[in-house]
Order: sequence, then structure tokens, then C-alpha cells
Amino acid sequence: MMMHEPPNLVGLRGRLSHRVSLAKYTTWRAGGIADSLYLPADRDDLASFLRQLTVFEAVTVLGLGSNTLVRDGGVRGTVVVMHNPGAALAVMDGLVYADAGAASPKLARFAATHGCVEAEFLAGVPGTVGGALAMNAGCYGGEAWRHVARVEVLLPSGTFTVRTPADYAIGYRTVTRADGAPCDGIFTAAWFRFPQGDAVAARARIKELLQARIASQPLGLPNAGSVFRNPPGDHAARLIEACGLKGHARGGAMVSPKHANFIVNPKGGARAADIEALIAEVQARVLAQTGVRLEAEVRVIGEAG
Ligand SMILES: Cc1cc2nc3c(=O)[nH]c(=O)nc-3n(C[C@H](O)[C@H](O)[C@H](O)COP(=O)(O)OP(=O)(O)OC[C@H]3O[C@@H](n4cnc5c(N)ncnc54)[C@H](O)[C@@H]3O)c2cc1C
Repeated sequence: MMMHEPPNLVGLRGRLSHRVSLAKYTTWRAGGIADSLYLPADRDDLASFLRQLTVFEAVTVLGLGSNTLVRDGGVRGTVVVMHNPGAALAVMDGLVYADAGAASPKLARFAATHGCVEAEFLAGVPGTVGGALAMNAGCYGGEAWRHVARVEVLLPSGTFTVRTPADYAIGYRTVTRADGAPCDGIFTAAWFRFPQGDAVAARARIKELLQARIASQPLGLPNAGSVFRNPPGDHAARLIEACGLKGHARGGAMVSPKHANFIVNPKGGARAADIEALIAEVQARVLAQTGVRLEAEVRVIGEAG
């Protein structure tokens, strides 16, 4: 096996490190190492970083890792972590601007504070704005792309381009290019058009939605939200529960007894292989007992350990 050569780069303001465990960069708190990990200082710094990588260096993007399972063998090449607590949010020309590294709940609160409505659902989606764009995150009737006016994308060449929703085909938890090709590049920013409304009511709705989540989801334990997409006309959680799988465990991973579409890592000791095997087992049991083939919503990356 060829050893990974850490890239030798100049003039960067971000933080590059090597052989970094990705467990602390995913909400499942499981998984292997990245050969290299880059925390860009900002969008220009990220562009400079990409321009200096050889075309052979594989680049994988993570936001807050709240929809991602990293296998135990880790990720070859460089993982770019977009989450940035200092990411910018602003109101400009009637639109809400967000750096892709901003946390979606921060965007929800920012929008509400500035008298915008319909961003409230993002308060309970614990990822980044970039991750919400890549996944078309949604809940409680809201969906990220419904409000996008335009996005900025950093292409692998290190140049920026601005696109509109017409450039994409957007569906339930899926986004591709308009011609069906996978999304290219890294989302670096987005401009959202939210309707103007009652700021007090929007903040109250955020509170209400968060309380509903606390009541129904195992938020105190490492998890990655809904593991499976809801099949048409049904709920994955209902099917999994009907198959008697609540509380079913595999190694350190367990189907949450609180919400059947969540897999939790209760002691923080699950291997990614436990989680992946449990996902496969749930799929097989639900298929055998109900005839419904559940599709994973979480994204699995990296090499088996
Ligand atoms: C407790 C909990 C509740 C959740 N509830 C919901 C919910 O109600 N609705 C919902 O839709 N999801 C939910 N999720 C899942 C998850 O939070 C969302 O999918 C979120 O949008 C993922 O954002 P992230 O930054 O963590 O993405 P990651 O997990 O880091 O990445 C997900 C995918 O997006 C890509 N990506 C990330 N950033 C970028 C970028 N800047 N440019 C290009 N690609 C990028 C990654 O390469 C990867 O393929 C929940 C998760 C948890 C843990």
C-alpha cells in the first residue's frame, strides 16, 4: 500500500493536521482517521488550499458530520471540515446570507431575529448550512432548498461560481446537478429568501420545535438523526418499531428505544462496523417482515477497518 504523502502547502491561514481521528468530527463519535484534515480559515483560504493540492489528492468534505458514518479504516486523502464557529451571517438586499460553515441552528435564530419566517425548522438540524444544501435537509414541512436564491460553489480547480436552484435537481433529501450528475464542488455560501414576518412568533416556534425534538429524539446520546429515508406514504420509524427492533443492539450500537429511526452509540464505544452492520440488519429485517426496502439517509464514507 502506498503511504499518504502529507501535502506540502504554503501561505495558508487554516489548520492542516495529519492522521486525525474523525470520531470527534462526526456526531456518531465513531470511525477511523483522516490521512490529513484541513480546517480552512475562510472561503478564500479554502480556494488557495484546493489550488495547491495535486489532482491526485482525494478531497472529502464534512460539515458537522451529523449525517455521516466514517468507516473504521478511515478516509484516504484530505478531509476538509467546513464547520466554522466564526462563519458569517448577514442580511443583504432583502436576502439572508450564510457562509456554508455556519451551523444551521444559528441561521434559524439569525433569520428569526431579523424578522424572517420559515427558517425555524433549521433550528433542529444540527449540521452546517453546506450540509443542509448537500442533503436538502428538512423537517416539520420545511426544506432547505425551498428558500435558496443562489449558492456559491468552489470548484475543484479552486475557482468560485454562483448558481441558482435552476442549476440543480432537488428532491427529498437529494440534490444533484440539473442533468442528474452528482453535485460538483463545495458549497461555500448561500443566499436565502425567507418571507418577512413576526420575529417574536418565529422565535417562539423555534422553542416549540426544539421541545418537540427533545421529547421524541435521543439527543443526549451520539447519533446521526434519521438513519433511513421515509418510504413513500410511510415512516421508517414506524416500520422499524413494528418489526420489534427498538432497543436492538449490535456491538456498541443500538436502535434507539426512544426513536426507532435513530441508531445511538450509548457508551461512545461503538465501532463504525457495529453501526453499519446494524443498519444492514434493520434493512434486512424490515424487508423480510414488511416487504419495504428502507434506503439509508446517512452517508457512509471511508474504508472498512
Ligand atoms: C439529532 C439529529 C437530528 C437531525 N434532524 C434532521 C432533520 O430533521 N432533517 C434533516 O434533513 N436532517 C436531520 N439530521 C441530519 C443532519 O443534521 C443533516 O443532514 C444536516 O444537514 C447535515 O449537515 P452536516 O454539516 O452535519 O453534514 P455532514 O454530515 O458533515 O455531511 C453530509 C453530506 O453533505 C456533504 N457536505 C457537507 N458540507 C458540504 C459543503 N459545504 N459542500 C458540499 N457538500 C457538503 C458531505 O460531503 C456529505 O456528503 C439530524 C441529525 C441529528 C444528529
